[in-house]
Amino acid sequence: MTAPIAFDNSYARLPARFHARLAPTPVERPRLIRLNRALARDLGLDPDWLASPDGVAALAGNRVIEGSEPLAAAYAGHQFGNFVPQLGDGRAILLGEVIGRDGRRDIQLKGSGPTPFSRHADGRAALGPVLREYLVSEAMAALGIPTTRALAAVSTGEHVARERFLPGAVLTRVAASHIRVGTFQFFAARSDVEGLRTLADHVLARHDPEAARAEKPYRALLAGVVARQAELVARWLLVGFVHGVMNTDNMSVAGETIDYGPCAFLDTYDPRTAFSSIDQHGRYAYGNQPRIALWNLARLAETLLPLLSADEGEAVAEAESVLEGFGARFEAAYHGGLGRKIGLSGLREDLREDDAALAGDLLKRMAENQADFTLTFRNLCAAAERPEADGAVRDLFVDPTAYDDWAARWRERLGKEQRDGTETARAMRAVNPAFIPRNHRVEEMIEAAVEREDFAPFERMLAVLARPYDDQPEEAAYAEPPADRGIGYRTFCGT
Ligand code: AMP
Ligand code: MG
Ligand code: MG
Repeated sequence: MTAPIAFDNSYARLPARFHARLAPTPVERPRLIRLNRALARDLGLDPDWLASPDGVAALAGNRVIEGSEPLAAAYAGHQFGNFVPQLGDGRAILLGEVIGRDGRRDIQLKGSGPTPFSRHADGRAALGPVLREYLVSEAMAALGIPTTRALAAVSTGEHVARERFLPGAVLTRVAASHIRVGTFQFFAARSDVEGLRTLADHVLARHDPEAARAEKPYRALLAGVVARQAELVARWLLVGFVHGVMNTDNMSVAGETIDYGPCAFLDTYDPRTAFSSIDQHGRYAYGNQPRIALWNLARLAETLLPLLSADEGEAVAEAESVLEGFGARFEAAYHGGLGRKIGLSGLREDLREDDAALAGDLLKRMAENQADFTLTFRNLCAAAERPEADGAVRDLFVDPTAYDDWAARWRERLGKEQRDGTETARAMRAVNPAFIPRNHRVEEMIEAAVEREDFAPFERMLAVLARPYDDQPEEAAYAEPPADRGIGYRTFCGT
């Protein structure tokens, strides 16, 4: 009989100091909460086998599939600006890699028991955060934003001790890789240049084969990560996403959104929003995310200095010149995206600066008027087609005339586009989601699952969020902001 999953284990083949080899710790009573059948098929896996008792045992960590070489990866990282030379997978185990429709993908269990990197913590995950990560990562994927994916959630039949006892769960996560800025920092902190080179070559082969053939491959590696992160953070801002804990160990070199913890979406637009209860100074606030991404990338660049040039001055100059590219790349992605959100095709290059100012002015007025971020842009789509639809936008502003002034200038600008209102509205609906994982709905969903073992809200939200750009009139309640506009909402690291 052939193995049910054809693992290839390129990360396990890296030198021993890259990881600790160990199997997941079995759990009491595994039960499948949800399997992502479509993703399983994309990965070339058999969803029926995964849903079978043997498959569920594998997804719970109770059974190691033939060909899997499970491991916990070593990494370091800056947490809230403080360097920790050793973090590592404290509650995650990489089962191996599979080659699917989109190439090589890591299959990792999260919450699968302690590892040598657990530092006194239990290596487990509570059900609530597992469902949150499953739902939000799948919502991000449906929004078209690079992200790790959720293949399955399994309840363990065990409790985890947090502020109180909570039901436990294991998430099966899929990623282009789990290599982080902090992975590079792990080797740099040990002055392990050989390890750095091995890691860099692995990343080049895996994520940037073209860069691997460049004249200066390590410079190209850095440039690739910088470009992917600039695009990614712009995409976050354009949907109101706040990652919440952008430590360097939570930043993927593949450019995917990774490590969903206290993440949340804006309701009202306020760039100072930081939801996480542990982010007291707003280091990872919505509007700080581009700056923090660049700070993290500078930490990556530092690790690469010994590979960039034997001459330190030259290496620093190389690194700086690559990092300087972040701003332009981010601005282009962000302003281009904002323009599309207000119906501008981007074809009028001569108006680019004016357009950025026009979009910026809308955001300023939204912030001053506690306007809902997602609804403002979604309702604007209809307004592009029919000025009578203005009411649904202006009502979102504390002072609706703040919208009227802006709308007059917006319409004048739309008149310079090639498209008619219907085409503009259609293009806008494709970039302005009606549905995001609303925080109050996520909380309700978690409460139903944790307190009442009721997974219906989870299933229903997953279905709605799988089609974020479609009007789903029967699900309109999921598009609504909370009654209190979401002001004061807090998330907890809730591990
Ligand atoms: P995070 O901020 O969630 O990305 O985690 C930071 C570090 O803490 C990582 O090394 C995690 O593996 C580790 N960690 C978080 N929660 C746990 C847990 N319950 N048990 C063991 N390690 C954990
Ligand atoms: Mg080892
Ligand atoms: Mg992490």
